[in-house]
Amino acid sequence: LEPKEEFEHKSLAVDVMRPRRSDPALAVLTQEGMTVAEAEALVESTRYSGFPVVVSQESQRLVGFVLRRDLLISIDHTPMDITVDIFRKLGLRQRLLGIITKKDILKHMAQMANRDPDSILFN
Ligand code: ADP
Repeated sequence: LEPKEEFEHKSLAVDVMRPRRSDPALAVLTQEGMTVAEAEALVESTRYSGFPVVVSQESQRLVGFVLRRDLLISIDHTPMDITVDIFRKLGLRQRLLGIITKKDILKHMAQMANRDPDSILFN
């Protein structure tokens, strides 16, 4: 993705952001009240490359982001409270609205150029 390349059309993050209204809710980890078993179930029931970490489901305050592979490793080797402590140290406290991956942007760019977004080849 070329960061300096300008969109021909004015695009808003909200147009690219997932999940869409019809999609399942964002798959998040919570800093409070989530057991290792629940985190494990979340990883196993989804295929996302990563999960935002929020303070609680109610607040949706963003604390950090954990990659699927790092979460799998920490479930195997590290007590969850250490993982949570790492997120806390990141110190982010923004309300989470959604997620945009690099592929989401590439697909959106293809759509803007009137091309089939699924025809885009990714490596
Ligand atoms: P990619 O977009 O590179 O395929 P993912 O497999 O992680 O990356 O994401 C697939 C789709 O799901 C994307 O549209 C992305 O915005 C969305 N997504 C990514 N992570 C999550 C999540 N934790 N919860 C809900 N949707 C997500």
